[in-house]
Amino acid sequence: MKTFHCDNCRNLVFFENIECTKCGSKLAYLPDRSAMAAIQPSKDGVWEPLESAQGQIKYRLCANYETQNICNWAIADSDRNSLCRSCRLTRTIPDLTQAGHGQAWYKMEVAKRRLVYGLIALGLPIESRLENPGKGLAFDFLCDAGNGAAPTILTGHSQGLITINLAEADDVERERRRVAMHEPYRTLLGHFRHESGHYYWDRLIKDTTHLDQCRALFGDERQDYAAALKKHYDDGPTPKWNERYISEYASSHPWEDWAETWAHYLHIRDAMETAAECGLVLKPENSAHAAFKPMTMDEMHPAKAFDKVIGRWFALAQVINNFNRGLGLHDPYPFVLTPTVVDKLRFVHTLVSAQPVRHKRPAAKILDKFLTRRRQSFPPLSEASADR
Ligand SMILES: [Zn+2]
Ligand SMILES: [Zn+2]
Ligand SMILES: [Zn+2]
Repeated sequence: MKTFHCDNCRNLVFFENIECTKCGSKLAYLPDRSAMAAIQPSKDGVWEPLESAQGQIKYRLCANYETQNICNWAIADSDRNSLCRSCRLTRTIPDLTQAGHGQAWYKMEVAKRRLVYGLIALGLPIESRLENPGKGLAFDFLCDAGNGAAPTILTGHSQGLITINLAEADDVERERRRVAMHEPYRTLLGHFRHESGHYYWDRLIKDTTHLDQCRALFGDERQDYAAALKKHYDDGPTPKWNERYISEYASSHPWEDWAETWAHYLHIRDAMETAAECGLVLKPENSAHAAFKPMTMDEMHPAKAFDKVIGRWFALAQVINNFNRGLGLHDPYPFVLTPTVVDKLRFVHTLVSAQPVRHKRPAAKILDKFLTRRRQSFPPLSEASADR
C-alpha cells in the first residue's frame, strides 16, 4: 500500500486514520485519487481537500463515516451515492443492537477497504450488484445463531456473494480457529483476499480460454467440491502437500488452491508496494548481491516483471519475518514458495497483468432497494464454495 501523509503538516498517517494525530486535521481517503487528504468544510455536508482548496472537486463523507464512524472514505460531491465505493459492496451488516457487533463490523470494513484498495490498484473489475446484477460483488457479514451453538454461518463465496462469519472479527475466536485448524496464518484481510479469489475465478477464468491452463496448474475443479472438503477435514491434507501447495487448505480442492494462491498474490503485491513506498532498500549483510529496491505497483504490473517480483519478494519476506521475530511476534509470512507454487503465482500474475485498468463510475443509485433485496437470489453456500 502507498504511504500517506497529512496534507497540512506532512505527518505520516495510516490508511485507516480519520484525524491527523499531530495537527488534528480531519482526514478522508479519496478513492478516486488513491490519496489520503486533509479536508476542510466547504458548505453544508460538503468538504474540500486542503491541498486543492482552490480546486473544483468537492467531496461528501461516506454515510458510514458521518453516521456510523466505521469508514473514512469520501465520495465526489457529484456522485449521487451516499455510501463510498467500498461500503456500497456490503449488502448485509450485523445487528448493531447486539453487544460487540459495532466493533466487529468496523473491523470487517477496515479489512474490506484494504482489499478494495488492492483490487483497484491492480485494475481489476470491481462492480457492485447494483452496477452489474449478474456478475457484481456483494458482502454479507453474518453472525452465528444462538450462544454456544455450532457455527451456522460459513465464510465463503457463491456467485459474487461473499459471506464472512462475524466471529472472524473476534481476535480470540479467530486465533482459536487458526490453532484448531493447524493454520500458520489466519486474518480477516486474508479471508477477504481468499474469498475474492473465488469471485475472480468466475470473472477471469470460468468460460475463458485460460481454463485449460488453470486446470493444468491447479487441477480439475469439476471434482466433487463437498466430497473433497469433507475428505480434507476427515483425513487431513494431501501427503507432501507442501511440495505443491501454498498451504494445507490449498490441497483440499483446485478451487481452494486457486483462492489461496490468489490471496498470496495480493499479499505480495501489497507488501512489496508498502516497502517501495517506504523507501526500503534491501541488502542483507555479507550478501554478495547488490542492494535492490522493492518495486512499486507500476513496476510490478507488466507480465514480464514476475521473476523480478518473486525474487525480491523472497528477500523482503525474509526481512519482515526477521523484524517480527525481533519483536517477539509470529512470522507475518510463514510460508515456503516452492517452484510449483511460484508457477501458480506466475499464472495469477499473467492474468492480472492482462486486465485493462477500469475507471467505470457507478450507476445512479438504487441502493436502498438493493440493500433490502432478499437473499434468495443466491444459492446456499454448501452448494458453492463454503470455506471455513
Ligand atoms: Zn497533520
Ligand atoms: Zn464507506
Ligand atoms: Zn475458499
